[in-house]
Amino acid sequence: MVFSRCPKDRPTESQRPKMTDKTTMTDNMMTSLGLDRPESGDDTVVPFTLDKLDTRGRTVRLGDALDTILSRHNYPAPVARLLGEAVVLAALIGSSLKFAGKFIMQTQTDGPVNLIVVDFDAPDGLRGYARFDHDMLVKAAEEGRTKPAELLGKGHLAMTIDQGEHMERYQGIVALEGNSLEDVAHTYFMQSEQIPTQVRLAVAEFTQKGDHRPHWRAGGMLVQHLPEHGMSHIPDLPGDGDFSNPETADPHFEEDDGWNEAKALMATLDDLELADPELSSERLLFRLYHETGVRVFPPMPVVERCTCSADRIEDMLSTSFTAEDREEMAVDGEIEVVCEFCSTAYHFNPHQFDVKN
Ligand SMILES: [Zn+2]
Repeated sequence: MVFSRCPKDRPTESQRPKMTDKTTMTDNMMTSLGLDRPESGDDTVVPFTLDKLDTRGRTVRLGDALDTILSRHNYPAPVARLLGEAVVLAALIGSSLKFAGKFIMQTQTDGPVNLIVVDFDAPDGLRGYARFDHDMLVKAAEEGRTKPAELLGKGHLAMTIDQGEHMERYQGIVALEGNSLEDVAHTYFMQSEQIPTQVRLAVAEFTQKGDHRPHWRAGGMLVQHLPEHGMSHIPDLPGDGDFSNPETADPHFEEDDGWNEAKALMATLDDLELADPELSSERLLFRLYHETGVRVFPPMPVVERCTCSADRIEDMLSTSFTAEDREEMAVDGEIEVVCEFCSTAYHFNPHQFDVKN
């Protein structure tokens, strides 16, 4: 297992609920927590509210969906971990789309991992890939600089909401300056929607009995301060847009008590709990927020799904390129296009387009 933090808060074995017969015990446990359904498993997003704290949120747990995305490309572990974080973040944000559409998250930076693209195709499809510079990655590993934020380096992150051709595209851009994706999410929501937001992301490699290789899994949580009446109480946007800069931040600003409590409790979460295969979202939320009260909603499934197709690529080859371009692209009389997300290879005859034009 690979974790970037010390698992100091992990409950001991004796504190964990014992489950001898998983199905019946699980149902019982959930009923005792006031839930009339079994707890959710991997590859689900669970929305929740902390009514007393004027806070809403979502948790995500990814198993097979993430493992498929990461293991397909056989990325070096630090790259896989960073892309994994991006996939968790895209699932947390994209799953809030209330319409058919797409949420696209893309980083462009000068670090060893220079490009990450993850998209969430509503209501449930996730896909993603990363590009990295092999030499820079080797050097970073030698120097011990392989934390996700260090691999990104400087540049920007763009979040795009695409609701189809009849709706306006929305795009928000946040500067990346050696900060983590967790921090970037906070800045993004402050700048674009002025909603105080806190995000936690954890990616881990697990090997279970009988596995012939380790599997990637991940967990994440997003909470937002959204009072039912009126606006969130947030500081004025500093001139430089940086809320953590003491020189420009409002020194008299005091955050809402409920929101402070929601954040403080979330800060006690460790990576092990977030990615623990034995700990459901419901149980995790109950552990964190049982004293203030937490309301959980039905889980929303997520799957690994690529949206590429021969038709789309054929269309792209036909409209974006000339006959001459296509002739040049052909090798041994055939154009091969490989999808960067899912590695599916598509083959075309450069002359099959001649008829259309
Ligand atoms: Zn594909």
